[in-house]
Amino acid sequence: MKNKPKGHVIVLPYPAQGHINPLLQFAKVLVTKGLKATLATTPYTINNIHEPTVAIEPISDGYDEGGFTHAPSVESYIESFRSAGSKTLSELIIKLRHSSCAVNCIVYDSMLTWALDVAKQFGIYGAVFLTNSASVCSIYWEMKLGNLVFPLEKWVFPISIPGLPPLGVSDLPSFVARPDDHKAYLDAIMGIFETLKNNDWVFCNTFQELESEALDGTWPVIPVGPMVPSAYLHQRNSEDTAYGATLWNPTRNKSYMTWLGTKPPRSVVYVSFGSMATTTAKQAEEIANGLKASKKNFIWVVKESWEILPKGFMSGLGDAGLVVTWCNQLEVLSHPAVGCFVTHCGWNSVLEALSIGVPMVTVAQWSDQPTNAKLVEVVWGVGTRAEKDSDDVLSGKELEKCIGEVMDAEKSEDLKRNASKWSQSASRAASVGGTSDKNINEFVKILMLPKG
Ligand code: UDP
Repeated sequence: MKNKPKGHVIVLPYPAQGHINPLLQFAKVLVTKGLKATLATTPYTINNIHEPTVAIEPISDGYDEGGFTHAPSVESYIESFRSAGSKTLSELIIKLRHSSCAVNCIVYDSMLTWALDVAKQFGIYGAVFLTNSASVCSIYWEMKLGNLVFPLEKWVFPISIPGLPPLGVSDLPSFVARPDDHKAYLDAIMGIFETLKNNDWVFCNTFQELESEALDGTWPVIPVGPMVPSAYLHQRNSEDTAYGATLWNPTRNKSYMTWLGTKPPRSVVYVSFGSMATTTAKQAEEIANGLKASKKNFIWVVKESWEILPKGFMSGLGDAGLVVTWCNQLEVLSHPAVGCFVTHCGWNSVLEALSIGVPMVTVAQWSDQPTNAKLVEVVWGVGTRAEKDSDDVLSGKELEKCIGEVMDAEKSEDLKRNASKWSQSASRAASVGGTSDKNINEFVKILMLPKG
């Protein structure tokens, strides 16, 4: 008979793909270490999560039929989640008192700071999980310390922050560079940093070797990443081959994997801008031109209606390119035929590319992505940054040039070498005895002791 778990963690992600993936992965890792884990998520995401080792329970954000898109504004969504979420999370903790092991910790997504109040109310541990890089978080931390104070016009550029390269305005998270456009998000994020030290643990989805200086600052942050299923961290025989959550339906029959199998090693460009960013018809036209001019094979994820693609593009593709609505990105990135990832630089996508060792063309859109793009190019040396024009459009010519740099030019050898180095480093951090693994063990050990 299996040993009864001695600690029970509720893991609470923000209900979006890029947040559920790392938090669900964290829950899975905790289970492998002997804890019980329950993922609490909204009713409209619950049916898209299939992970047998983790219990899944509903909580409410006040928009049970469809979530965020049904809310009149970001502000009202965050407020609604605070009130409905606090209530239903409390009810869940009470309900789980009667399970095989009562809940003794909440690990919550950094967007959901109210969960810490719930943990305190019940006298259980509270741990925040930062889904951005430590470098990006350290920009917010400097702001909280009062070392960077709005208005932006008064900042002296390039600004210097320990562990980061000199940053211009275009390298800052968009919430900082354009605070008036993103007030609700910026307020929510600054709320995390105001209460950071009240947490029992502050986890970050990164690893020590990747961001050592940013992690060694004046703040109590613990790296536990990369939160990528272990089969993609050089443990090819692992059964952990997927996150376990897909809010989008992959293109049917995974025909793209068969197609990839027909292509030579490192000959394919994979293009995806994650789950939130949208592509305009003008931008789609430029990407189509750039891909065609690059003369490379490509897989392009277009979540939007394919009406945004230029007329005749699909019928003229031949065997060189494939457009899909969604794919299993981990499978695609780890296929030997893929040699370049054109990415929006969502933090999960960057960590996945680093872990698997695929060089990138970075096309940052908003949020933390501009800073991630800077790090990819300047600090980790695993990509090239595509510059957009004054209308915020990436031109076909620029895309063609960047793909050439990553796949053909002299620079490509360096990028490949660095990508392979980071991939090995990520694997070591997450393997038994690695830096992240040890940090997780320390946490688990404490949760298994009776709280006294
Ligand atoms: N993803 C995927 N298939 C796709 C595109 C994205 O599985 O076609 C996954 C990807 O592996 C990553 C997540 O969706 O784990 C996106 O998170 P990220 O932080 O990169 O970007 P966001 O969607 O939050 O902007």
